[in-house]
Amino acid sequence: MNAPIRDLSFSPRSDWTRAQIAALFALPFPELMFRAASVHRAHFDPTQVQTSTLLSVKTGGCPEDCGYCSQSSKYETGVKASKLMAVDAVLAEARAAKEAGASRFCMGAAWREPKDKDLDTVCVMVEGVKALGMETCVTLGMLTAPQAARLKQAGLDYYNHNLDTSPEYYRHVITTRTYQDRLDTLEHVREAGISVCCGGIVGMGESEQDRIGLIHALATQPIHPESVPINLLVGEDTRAVESAGKLDPLEFVRTVAVARITMPKSMVRLSAGRQDMSEETQALCFLAGANSIFCGPKLLTTPNPLVDSDRQLFEKLGLSPMPLP
Ligand code: SF4
Repeated sequence: MNAPIRDLSFSPRSDWTRAQIAALFALPFPELMFRAASVHRAHFDPTQVQTSTLLSVKTGGCPEDCGYCSQSSKYETGVKASKLMAVDAVLAEARAAKEAGASRFCMGAAWREPKDKDLDTVCVMVEGVKALGMETCVTLGMLTAPQAARLKQAGLDYYNHNLDTSPEYYRHVITTRTYQDRLDTLEHVREAGISVCCGGIVGMGESEQDRIGLIHALATQPIHPESVPINLLVGEDTRAVESAGKLDPLEFVRTVAVARITMPKSMVRLSAGRQDMSEETQALCFLAGANSIFCGPKLLTTPNPLVDSDRQLFEKLGLSPMPLP
């Protein structure tokens, strides 16, 4: 049961089987944590955490029906639709994020896919944020290959497009685009030479088999996503999928640990849901190999811990922000 540490593979591999991933989830908690922490420190300084800030540059009114999302026009969520922000306003937010210690600035737009005219504006935003000396990431929905190439030309570092959940559970969450649509966008991003940010959401009423399926789908990508956000569903039960809170925090920590072991060189990011997590749960996630967080009061439309409380938590845990590579 408890394989000695020398049997661990610290190198990335894409041939994980579901049975192997299930076996990791089933490990006794201390063994799982030990393995995840060992893999983590083989590739990273475990005291450093990368910090990103996420800004919604175009909020609400999205025609997609992602069952977890407050920005879908299919559900009554109280989120008002707005137009694409002006470039100057976005750059002012990026400057503030940099001053607050963020090294990466992520911009999200609630679109099924970007129109080419809007993409031109986003490219100007990307160029402006790059000029501030920050890493850039955008999440704009589905992308064609030429659109991905256009973003690369503007200097984009990362494109976020999540797989969300397992292929089997996917139809319970989204019906307006397929799993394959998502994989196609990821392929266009890869082919353009942009780093991939891709993860999922747990606590949506899925089973452990689905969490295994999600990690399997991510860890068997020919190249692992460079960033793997693990989100915990947050918010009121106004959308199609069940509200979170029902997921045992230790099951969330296990998901982080298994992501770390199976994708050893990726940045594993604690994303949505941190606001509802205790400091102890977050500390366990860092121990399990999470090494990236979003900082700032909002994640698109959902609340996030304040920068000051994150500073205090870092201090308590002896963590420091990861410098830019
Ligand atoms: S595509 Fe994005 S913004 Fe639109 S409903 Fe889905 S998650 Fe929300």
